[in-house]
Amino acid sequence: MGENVFISGASRGIGCEIARTLAKEGYNLAMCCANSIDSLKAYTESLCDEYGINAKAYQLDVSSESSWSEIGPIIMSEFNSIDIVINNAGISYVGLITDMRSEDWHNVIATNVNSLYYSTNTFLPGMVSRKSGRIINISSMWGDKGASCEVAYSTSKGAINSFTKSLAKEVAPSNIAVNALSPGVIDTDMNSCFSAEDMNALVEDIPANRLGTPTDVAEAVLSLLRMPTYLTGQVIGIDGGF
Ligand code: NAP
Repeated sequence: MGENVFISGASRGIGCEIARTLAKEGYNLAMCCANSIDSLKAYTESLCDEYGINAKAYQLDVSSESSWSEIGPIIMSEFNSIDIVINNAGISYVGLITDMRSEDWHNVIATNVNSLYYSTNTFLPGMVSRKSGRIINISSMWGDKGASCEVAYSTSKGAINSFTKSLAKEVAPSNIAVNALSPGVIDTDMNSCFSAEDMNALVEDIPANRLGTPTDVAEAVLSLLRMPTYLTGQVIGIDGGF
């Protein structure tokens, strides 16, 4: 029987492709999203049919403590143990910091950062008692480099990098690997706010001369799952050499 993986934000983009890549390898999937639950349920059924895995879809708002309190125990009872956690769900905000409403700031931080606290407190205790587990956080190159007009987003991704390095130290004695993947510009809905001109300008800055794809990131996740747990506390770029 395959290991059980929790993936947040699996309804679209990178998370959706991570789910397919892991399903092909026989991993069982507990997948969540915020709003697109009907399409996530349909996608989950298609993965079960195609790959013969056990997969379930949950409407879990990762930014909300009450949502975790309600759905977390259901996931734990339906899957018994979660062996691997992929904290992928995230939102961006593009605009001047001085134009940003405080509720938008708090939403970015709650979705991208607070979610890691809730996720960890839901799934880590089981990993510690089994002395085995892996956590992969999806960060962003902007968390290291900083992006103009994306101060909140860059701040949240910088926090994910620190969270990853600190938690890795805390749980290494329990044989749990905690790493982050730090994508560059990936072709998903998240970048639909940018014009074709903006995207072309971004591509010019990418040494690989193309946008990344969700498959690039999903393949990196799979490779990381195959690494020894001694590889921990790392923030690994997948950015075409940006
Ligand atoms: P996307 O296409 O916009 O998809 C976002 C996913 O996250 C959706 O499944 C969405 O669910 C889910 N989500 C958003 N808020 C949520 C919440 N509060 N609770 C639960 N699920 C929530 O984004 P993406 O490009 O795939 O990004 C995935 C991750 O990669 C993010 O952490 C992002 O920061 C990171 N990343 C992306 C890029 C890029 O260029 N695309 C680059 C670097 C890093 P619904 O469908 O229900 O809304």
